[in-house]
Amino acid sequence: MTHILLTGGAGYIGSHTYLALVQAGYRPVILDDYSNSHPAVLARLQQISGQPVLHARGDVADVALVRGLLEQYQVAAVVHFAAFKAVGESVEQPLKYFDNNITGMLRLMQAMEQAGCRRLVFSSSATVYGDPDSVPITEAFPLRHSSPYGCTKVVCEEMIASMLGANPAWRAGVLRYFNPVGAHASGLIGENPQGVPNNLMPYVAQVAIGRRQHLNIWGDDYPTPDGTGLRDYIHVADLAEGHVAALDTLLRDQRSFTVNLGTGRGHSVLEVVAAFAAASGRPVPYQICPRRPGDIAQCYADPSLARELLGWRASRTLADMCADSWRWQSANPEGYV
Ligand code: NAD
Ligand code: UDP
Repeated sequence: MTHILLTGGAGYIGSHTYLALVQAGYRPVILDDYSNSHPAVLARLQQISGQPVLHARGDVADVALVRGLLEQYQVAAVVHFAAFKAVGESVEQPLKYFDNNITGMLRLMQAMEQAGCRRLVFSSSATVYGDPDSVPITEAFPLRHSSPYGCTKVVCEEMIASMLGANPAWRAGVLRYFNPVGAHASGLIGENPQGVPNNLMPYVAQVAIGRRQHLNIWGDDYPTPDGTGLRDYIHVADLAEGHVAALDTLLRDQRSFTVNLGTGRGHSVLEVVAAFAAASGRPVPYQICPRRPGDIAQCYADPSLARELLGWRASRTLADMCADSWRWQSANPEGYV
């Protein structure tokens, strides 16, 4: 059995990746401190996968703990999801983000070095491109700090590049996710935001279920076909399969890579609203508001490098994303409680 350590594996993307890895024959081990997730996800993962979930509770910055897990399970590779991810909060509390995201990465790599486990897949983000000069975005576009959160992703990418340069025994796959949405087809796991969702899809889902009265659409005067922001929404199950492809490639070819994980298609806010209303059969009332500070008009990937290097491409549609998000939301209106 090839063991893979998933830091932050109880979170939204980590939990879906856990299932994709089990399905592909890997044996994932979850490390999470539940700072932004709920331990109830473990029972759901066991229910879906039909096998006990290997897991440990703790901080990724705890070098002794992480080293112990790497050695105990003879871990072949680490997927590093554990981080804080709220852009707005990072502007208000940058030190919290630098500490968790950058110190977490530093301590993790120290533990990996000590244990002799030098295969790493890292959760980066399209936020590293800031406001791009054009779309679609290729991996060759310049990196720009757009927020303290974005800065942590750029710094972590640079830390990885430094390790690859310093020690030829290291290999890494840097995955720049676009906008992950949707949920597992079972409806048993999904995105579980704490408090008021910042992101579009979970907010829309909460409007459809009646937890919130209406959606505020942040601007309809962008230079896009209908004036609302355009994003590359990617089904979390496609994203999870992207991690399997990345691990397969990293462990087989022994080469490092940085790739976009997106669909290559942009959808507007109004398109998402219409697709969600159709999938749920519920109205999604909205009002047009001024632009949200820091927002960009459009952002979508050129996903061809991931296809070429990993043999992976996203296959699920916006309708699939909305249908699966609605199944999760309607079966679990309050999330994991
Ligand atoms: P999430 O918050 O659902 O998952 C992150 C998990 O990490 C949580 O379970 C949290 O409890 C855990 N965690 C945080 N700090 C930890 C620490 N110090 N030690 C141990 N566990 C810790 O977020 P997600 O949406 O699943 O995102 C996963 C990764 O992908 C993050 O690195 C995020 O920055 C990145 N990413 C997310 C998106 C997105 O829109 N969801 C987009 C691009 C990149
Ligand atoms: N958006 C919106 N109302 C919301 C949340 C988001 O109109 O309550 C818009 C936002 O302006 C952007 C798109 O939806 O055009 C996606 O926003 P999200 O925060 O999900 O992703 P990001 O902007 O970080 O790519």
